[in-house]
Amino acid sequence: MGEDYYTVLAGGVGAAKFIQGLVRVVDSSNIKIVINTGDDIELFGLRICPDIDIITYSIAEVVDKEKGWGFENETFNCLSILKNYYDNEWFNLGDKDLAIHIYRTDLFRKGFTKAQITSDICKKLGIKAKLIPMSDESVTTYIDTSLGKLHFEEYYIKHKCKPEILDISFNGSNKAKPVRGVIDYIKNAKKVIICPSNPIVSIGTILSVKEIKKTLISVKDKVYAISPIIEGSTVKGPANKMMDFFGYEVSSLGVAKFYKEIIGHFIIDRKDQSLKPQIEELGIKTYCFDTLMTNIQKKESLARDVINL
Ligand code: GDP
Repeated sequence: MGEDYYTVLAGGVGAAKFIQGLVRVVDSSNIKIVINTGDDIELFGLRICPDIDIITYSIAEVVDKEKGWGFENETFNCLSILKNYYDNEWFNLGDKDLAIHIYRTDLFRKGFTKAQITSDICKKLGIKAKLIPMSDESVTTYIDTSLGKLHFEEYYIKHKCKPEILDISFNGSNKAKPVRGVIDYIKNAKKVIICPSNPIVSIGTILSVKEIKKTLISVKDKVYAISPIIEGSTVKGPANKMMDFFGYEVSSLGVAKFYKEIIGHFIIDRKDQSLKPQIEELGIKTYCFDTLMTNIQKKESLARDVINL
């Protein structure tokens, strides 16, 4: 029997929506969130962790609700001046957001780890859920494209996912170890929930840390994934292009095939219920719910559906 907590694997915006629902359904102190760090980047000399920040701001309810990232009521004064000195102004960093990056960078320089810093920031924002970077070691997602090898954020934000994908790699993942506690949190959780995140560059990056993947395989009967694909399309972002690149059809069936080794249960949208028999043939129990989280009620309702399974 598992402990009384839930362990969640998360990317950015898709994950944050689900987690906003989850914290309304489950006592936050019983939620452990293992977060992708492959998108982490250094800009203007500052350490930026986009997925950790999206989840942090979302739980703290300071996130820009429209965009799903950054602070609400944000201003961009600092960036407008930085543009005079740098040419990497393609990454939108608001003034409040920059304050977090300055603080994080300061703590890095003082010798604290990513996990310790994340924990500290969460504590200061009053977050009771435990947010854990997948690894303290650097793992960086690169997209090899027709324009050359690009950092994931460069591909996503600067080039708007337009260049043709030639390869996707997770630099450093061979040597990366999970942050202390992650393996036990996966082993001992009541359920492990994989958020509706990009399977390749959010969850796939977490899986590139071998010990995490191995542990998930060993407990797959309690691993539940939520499909980020509805009716053959992504809700947002380049998951479709990436699945296509690796030869997976862009559908919940394709996502199920990608996760086959590590999940025992799969949540797909009601609109995709015709795929249920084919997914179950893979040996995965499949459930159909409304998975498009367009408001807080829908986020909460999906979280409740998954918890009650
Ligand atoms: P990113 O790192 O900010 O791109 O965020 P994630 O990796 O967490 O999430 C991206 C994925 O979330 C995309 O593939 C979207 O299709 C999916 N997604 C976003 N919103 C929703 C939603 O409301 N429902 C479902 N099922 N998937 C969603």
